[in-house]
Amino acid sequence: MKEWSAIQLRDAFLKGEVKAVEIAQYFLKRIEEHNERLGAFLNVLGERAMAKAEQLDRKRAQKKALGKLAGVPIAIKDNMHIAGEITTCGSKILENYRAPFNATAVRLLEEEDGLLLGKTNLDEFAMGSSNENSAFFPAKNPWNTECVSGGSSGGSAAAVAARLSLLATGSDTGGSVRQPASYCGLVGYKPTYGRVSRYGLVAYGSSLDQIGPFATNVADAALMMEVIGKPCPYDATSLQLPAEIYKLTKDLDGVQIGVPYKFLDGLNPEMRANFDQSIEVMKELGANVIDIDLDVLRSSIAVYYILATAEASTNLARFDGVRFGLRSKEARSLEEVYEFSRREGFGREVKRRIMLGTYVLSAGFQDAYYKKAQKVRTLIINAFETAFAHCDAIVMPTTTGGAFQSGSISDPVEMYLQDIFTIPGNLAGLPCVSVPSGYDEQGMPLGLQIIGPQMCDVSVLQYSYAYEQANNIARLPEGL
Ligand code: GLN
Repeated sequence: MKEWSAIQLRDAFLKGEVKAVEIAQYFLKRIEEHNERLGAFLNVLGERAMAKAEQLDRKRAQKKALGKLAGVPIAIKDNMHIAGEITTCGSKILENYRAPFNATAVRLLEEEDGLLLGKTNLDEFAMGSSNENSAFFPAKNPWNTECVSGGSSGGSAAAVAARLSLLATGSDTGGSVRQPASYCGLVGYKPTYGRVSRYGLVAYGSSLDQIGPFATNVADAALMMEVIGKPCPYDATSLQLPAEIYKLTKDLDGVQIGVPYKFLDGLNPEMRANFDQSIEVMKELGANVIDIDLDVLRSSIAVYYILATAEASTNLARFDGVRFGLRSKEARSLEEVYEFSRREGFGREVKRRIMLGTYVLSAGFQDAYYKKAQKVRTLIINAFETAFAHCDAIVMPTTTGGAFQSGSISDPVEMYLQDIFTIPGNLAGLPCVSVPSGYDEQGMPLGLQIIGPQMCDVSVLQYSYAYEQANNIARLPEGL
């Protein structure tokens, strides 16, 4: 079953070629065999998956209607709530926090009969690019366990890359779906801001956060989008638009592709060669490639680390030792409850971001940092709008190179710089996909990013499908 797409597996189940119970057993066994080495899952929901599988087999036997994801194994990033299960957010502060309700995306996946296998590892509160900020253990890259899986949704990426699951959810605030997808040889999709409800996703940077799918191929990612891309009354920023139907075709006839060549200056030669090859593939499929100016994107990282930390500092204020999660046993006063609980519960990077965010919002500094960053964000949004007047989609690499060695980046700013190509899409709320584009000299996967105008989720996935079909480089990591 590990060679199958989610759609193939579902169809095999619907035809009666395989039972849901067999599917659940198969993937739970793979998790048992590989998770210790990979660290992809923080919590495996074996009983829950088996119970759902039995229910699906009964439904099938009784010829009852089955959902779009019937029997498909799905992993959920551990910052999204499954009612009754623990949501840790990769943090000690929520180590024992049990979610009282379902995230909307989770509810929709279950309603369409997906088999939820467990909760996946992440950088604490989704802050990181390598999974090394998980408070528990890092998720490793299935292509080479010496390398990082990416972040923050590295656990979801590792799970799907190793076929411990065929689909997974991630959340993408500055690249957390696309970057690990690229590092692990998967399709990772960040929808238009508002396409997928954020209800039940623990907030990091609320104006940037979007839930999106990890899949082994574009059609599977599109299938998950059909299920989760729906309006939701519990998220004020949810788009009030019906779910899209993703029609995927194999050509790029007449599609105008914009490349910000100047912005890509200085790209590492290996990545550059791979990117140029991708452009050739797109041209062969009928695309016209034009040069566009997006030099203002050079400010993206500075803008993001002001806005995301500002939003995080307010969002994380709720973890005060009183309402959720860990409460310090040492505290003798209310003040100490706040202080000690947060000191003991949060890790280094989360503390750093809370301090940064508090600083940029503080009286006297707000104009210089927060307000200025908001203005530059508007310039970035405008630059994309101008570019999209001339092209249908913009392409660039997803990352600056293949997955790096664990422990090799210790300077936080250097880590932040990893996200230069993914952050702009979040700042402008655009639909962006990372699709496998090849391998580097070490055999690690590389990714191509395709970015579309707001609401053009269908076109972005269609372009990536055409590219994927022509490029045809997907394979399983060795030994898996
Ligand atoms: N690496 C970025 C950060 O640390 C993005 C993470 C994300 O998208 N959640 O903020």
